[in-house]
Amino acid sequence: MLRVPFDSAFLVGYAFLFGAAVGSFANVCIYRIPRQRRNRSDLGLVDADLLPEGHSIVRPRSFCPGCRKPIPWHDNIPLLSYAILNGRCRTCRTRIPLRYPFVEFLTGALFALCAWRHVSDPQAFSLPVALVAMGVSAALVILAFIDLDFRIIPDGLSVGGVLLAVPLSLLVPPLHVKLWPPWAFQPVSGPMEALAASLAGILAGAGSIYAMHLMGVGYLRIKALLRSQRFDPDQAVVGGGDLKMMAAVGGILGWQGAVLIVFLLAPVFGALVGIAYRLITHDEYIAYGPFLALGTLIVMLMRREILELLGQAFAGRAVIPI
Ligand SMILES: [Zn+2]
Repeated sequence: MLRVPFDSAFLVGYAFLFGAAVGSFANVCIYRIPRQRRNRSDLGLVDADLLPEGHSIVRPRSFCPGCRKPIPWHDNIPLLSYAILNGRCRTCRTRIPLRYPFVEFLTGALFALCAWRHVSDPQAFSLPVALVAMGVSAALVILAFIDLDFRIIPDGLSVGGVLLAVPLSLLVPPLHVKLWPPWAFQPVSGPMEALAASLAGILAGAGSIYAMHLMGVGYLRIKALLRSQRFDPDQAVVGGGDLKMMAAVGGILGWQGAVLIVFLLAPVFGALVGIAYRLITHDEYIAYGPFLALGTLIVMLMRREILELLGQAFAGRAVIPI
């Protein structure tokens, strides 16, 4: 009988390989979702950029964008094929962007991290929670790269996430912590509390982005006033895609996570990278989705530590004698 070794290191290793394979599919999604024919008006893509009629995310199998030849399975092995083919298509020698193996590695690494969190802390990160975290990781990788390329977050990912968040919360209540006290790691007692946490998270995620938008508009108005310029109301501060994305994230991680990501983590990462990016490219606009995604990954993987840290900080302040 075949005996599968199932100890921790193997579990994490399997998760990496599984993640790399999912990452290979993520590459297909990143390329194909924005190039679907129904998205043409949003992105101003010309016909030649779009997928041919009848193509979808799953059909037909992967082909080389250079010579359009289908890629055989043995040239489509995550990470390995890129190395064996030396980064070029076997038929036409078109360069395969380094991003392809990078996305495979990144997804593999994130899956491995999810598995490792489960192995190292099974109470906080049960197997179902780890599986959801893997799915969320893959969705975030796809979303972040599409946002980098086209500055859109497809509704299929964001609205789809909102629609999935509620049934997922009912099925896997340990995804959520109690609504109150805000900064404590106290898992919910059952599906109904998880449902409440999910709904509160959807509202908090969307509401936080909307508040961010209002603050940005206020800032731009004051800036225009001080420079005696006209305020352009069309100047988008945060996009609608960000709002829908964070509604989904809140629905899965709860309101505490959504608030932390929108008001603390994403702005800090965005400011650090944004300043550098602006100095190099002089481009004022930067996709915000990748920073929200990065913040989401950090909260998802380290929620227990973050909530406990914040809980201690608040508790510490409460005992300072006045
Ligand atoms: Zn080719």
